[in-house]
Amino acid sequence: MAEDTAQGQPPLEAKSPFELRVNLGQGVPETDVRTALATGEMGFLHSYTTGSAVDGPGVRVVAWTTGCMWRCRYCHNPDTWTLGNGIPVSVNRAAEELGKYRQGLKVMAGGFTLSGGEPLMQHRFAAKLLAASKAMGIHTAMETNGYYGDRLTDAGLGALDLVLLGIKSWGAERHKDLTGMDITPTLEFARRLAALRKPVWIRFVLVPGLTDDPEILEGIAGFAAGLGNVERVEVLPFHQMGRFKWERLGLDYTLGDTQPPTPDACERACEVFRAQGLKAY
Ligand code: SF4
Repeated sequence: MAEDTAQGQPPLEAKSPFELRVNLGQGVPETDVRTALATGEMGFLHSYTTGSAVDGPGVRVVAWTTGCMWRCRYCHNPDTWTLGNGIPVSVNRAAEELGKYRQGLKVMAGGFTLSGGEPLMQHRFAAKLLAASKAMGIHTAMETNGYYGDRLTDAGLGALDLVLLGIKSWGAERHKDLTGMDITPTLEFARRLAALRKPVWIRFVLVPGLTDDPEILEGIAGFAAGLGNVERVEVLPFHQMGRFKWERLGLDYTLGDTQPPTPDACERACEVFRAQGLKAY
């Protein structure tokens, strides 16, 4: 994938997912952007990394797309919100690069995870890249907020072995306050995945004073337990590693005084999910 980058641009492979990246797709004509989105032949990637042990089972290659319509107050990658901050990459080139890791990923019981940003902002590209990965025998996962889940057909979902579904809060108002968006499409997507018996890991970010309310935890736990296809819930502790991006991008960061949750608080949150019969870590 790295070879697709123009001179002077950083390589697509990131040293860390916390690298700030802006305007890398700036030179791409508007018509090319529209064609890319319409065909899925080209996509925009913030970066990718190899060797991730935290984005699905085993050791994985993870690619982060650009473009997200949500505005989560704790987002640690706000530079992924803008499509044009990403590096344009053809789907064939991305698949070719991914193929180089095929044997290693198999040995490490891992696979490929498409994350973001929100991958379904580029749903045709996402579907093609996941299908290409699956065709190479690579386990596939996609991390999504689920809002545009209806953009993926059932056939498109067939190329996905696992969905990492972010459920950010519970209750219409709280969800809107945290993300700026309606929770309904995410829950509808979760129910559709359940009907298709598609394995799901739910990802939930625990933020003291914002998402640690028992009503939120119990609401998500009850919903997740009722689906029947949730293999695990990941309680991710809020952190401040993305704060500098908000500041550098001139964005209004509202969590400057918020501390990460204690290990005890994370464990108590996990217990709420476990009480519903779910595996939680
Ligand atoms: S959905 Fe993900 S990428 Fe989008 S704003 Fe929220 S945390 Fe950030």
